[in-house]
Parts: sequence; C-alpha cells; structure tokens
Amino acid sequence: MNDPVRLPSAFGMTLDDWIEWGQSRGQSQFRAKQIVQWLYEKRAKSWDDMSNLPQALRDELKAAFSLERLPVVRLTGSKDTTRKFLFRLHDGRLVETVKIPANVHFDGGQSDRITLCVSSQVGCAYDCKFCASGLAGFTRNLEVEEIVGQVMAAEEDSGESVRNLVFMGMGEPLANLTRLTKAIAILNAPWGLNIGARHMTVSTSGLAPQIEKLADLPVQIRLAISLHGASDEVRDQIMPVNKKYPLARLFAALEVWRTKKKQKITLEYILIEGVNDSLDQAALLAKRARALEAKVNLIPYNTVEGLPWKRPSERQQDAFLGALTRAGVVATLRREKGHDISAACGQLRLQQETAEGIVAASGK
Ligand code: SAH
Repeated sequence: MNDPVRLPSAFGMTLDDWIEWGQSRGQSQFRAKQIVQWLYEKRAKSWDDMSNLPQALRDELKAAFSLERLPVVRLTGSKDTTRKFLFRLHDGRLVETVKIPANVHFDGGQSDRITLCVSSQVGCAYDCKFCASGLAGFTRNLEVEEIVGQVMAAEEDSGESVRNLVFMGMGEPLANLTRLTKAIAILNAPWGLNIGARHMTVSTSGLAPQIEKLADLPVQIRLAISLHGASDEVRDQIMPVNKKYPLARLFAALEVWRTKKKQKITLEYILIEGVNDSLDQAALLAKRARALEAKVNLIPYNTVEGLPWKRPSERQQDAFLGALTRAGVVATLRREKGHDISAACGQLRLQQETAEGIVAASGK
C-alpha cells in the first residue's frame, strides 16, 4: 500500500527550512515566504496552483516534496458535537484526533472556540494502568507533519480555525520532544497555523527532565500534569513512570517550569474508586497544589473495556472536591460524559480488530 518513492512532506518544514532549501537552489527568501503562504494560508492542494512561483521552481518542488494530507479513514460525530478523526498514516498505522466543539468547559473556563486534542505517538510506552491508549504498547513516534497534519485536517473538515490545542491524545508528547517542538513552532508561527502559544497545552505523565527542557523553549505554551496520585505509594501503583521520576523529582521540575514561565500549571487528577479517591489523598494533593500554586482538574474516571477500574460515587467525588476547595485550592470537577476534554482524549484507543478492518477496507 505504500508508495515506494514517498517524498518528504512539505508540512514538516519551518520557514527557516524553506529558506535554507531555497538558498541551496539560488532562490531568494521571498520565495520561501510565498511557499508557506500557499501551504498554510491558501491551503494549496497542488504545486501547480502556486501561480506566483516560477514554473521551474514549481517543478523542483513537485519532485522534492509531497502535499498529501493525512487520509481520514473514519469520521464520527457531527460538526457541532465531539468529532473523532481516525487517520491512516503512510505505513498503515492509525492515529486518532478529537475535535471538541465550542462552548465546552475546559481548564476552569469556558472556551468559545474549537479545541483539538492531538496525538503525539502511535501507542504509548508508559503503561499507565487505567489508560486505554497504552494497552497495545508503543509503536512509533509521530513525525512533525503527522502532528501538524492532524490540525490541518480538522480545519479543512469544518472550514473553521482551530484556536485551542491540547496534546492529550494518544502517546506521551514529551517522549517525542524534538518533533513536538518543531510541530509547535509550525503550529504557532504567524506564517503557519497561527495558534497562540497560550492556547496550546502539553500534557505529560511526568517526564521530569523533558519538562525542564520544554521550560527553556521560548514560547508560552501551557503545561498540564497527569498526576492521578498525591503520594508515591498511590502513584507507583497506577503510573510506572513514577518509579523513574518520583513525585519529589517531578515537583522539582515543576518548580523550574514555574520559575521560567511564570505561569500556572494544571494538575489533572482522574478519580478512581478505591485507588486514589480517599480524603487522605485529597489532603496531600491540596498541599502539593498549594505549594505549587497550581490548579486542579478532577476527572471522574471513564471506564475502559477490559480494565477493572471504576469512577467513585458522585458523593465521593464531591467530598474530594470539597476537601480541595476548603483547603484553598482552585479546583474543577466535571461529570458530563464525553464533555471533558481530558476524558474524551484519554480514551483514545485503536481497537485492533476494528483498526485492521479499516486498513483492509481502505487499503485497496
Ligand atoms: N501521556 C500524556 C498525554 C495523554 S493525555 C499524559 O499522560 O498526560 C490523556 C489524559 O487522559 C491524561 O491525563 C490521562 O491520564 C487521561 N486519561 C487516560 N485514561 C482515562 C480514562 N479512562 N478516563 C479519564 N481520563 C483518562
């Protein structure tokens, strides 16, 4: 099914890359600017459409780069509900993206803009015990153009710009840091997708050294931590990554982030019955959140087929929230199923059988 002479994608390049490519062929910088304008502003589908470029340059571009979009193999939901895209990548792997409509509460506020939940890897290596994404293990990192491509496809589906973006889809974004950083540059650039850095959130299971590296990036992107346990004892049980970067190491990295970014961090906390929902955990969480001046986003666990975990009763959820707010922590709790961004994204999983069916059906 793969093209044996697959060209590199045009959507994996920054403006600087285009300038460099052009210069090696005696082109002026101006040409690079024209190219990115055709790619992102005008969304050209063919090099021949780029009417203000000399024919010889168009021919060179055509021979060197592909303008191919990520092929959508399944689309569920409608334009004003949560919409899931399933894409087939060039090697047959599948990846999901979720578009959450406007007017859905997120991050303690209310967004009047579309939010896109983007995947960063095929599968995930981190093996969080409650998460559907890691069930089938890790396959590979997404390329820059595969990250950018998810956003382009969502925009081209509805004709509306994506204004909020969360890296909360499948995979661990900080385990794919180099490509993530480059994708963020393209997504953020005025010549690119032009999404404000403050409207992009990277969510991580807690890779401390990579958090510190990301803090050095000169863009004001936001950080969310999938905490899910307020003591090492609890977190160790459900998130193996905690053995490598225990809470003391993780919170040291968060202090680095806070010092460099001067920005509030969000602590995501899934409530799982009998695992992390005790009032002792709430008290410890409150202490950690206060010390960090972080806000807490509580998410009642969404059951995953094949996994034993359950969400606590509403009474227990309220008690947990109450304990946090009484301790002076800014915390939110949302119950509406499928409406919470983290929950909707956290459930991304490619069911093997279905996925194979799709590959077979569309791999003509
Ligand atoms: N690896 C990154 C990005 C994934 S984000 C991270 O861990 O942050 C997906 C979010 O959804 C994470 O906060 C994850 O912990 C959460 N999640 C996973 N499974 C879930 C479920 N069944 N119900 C609710 N949230 C879930």
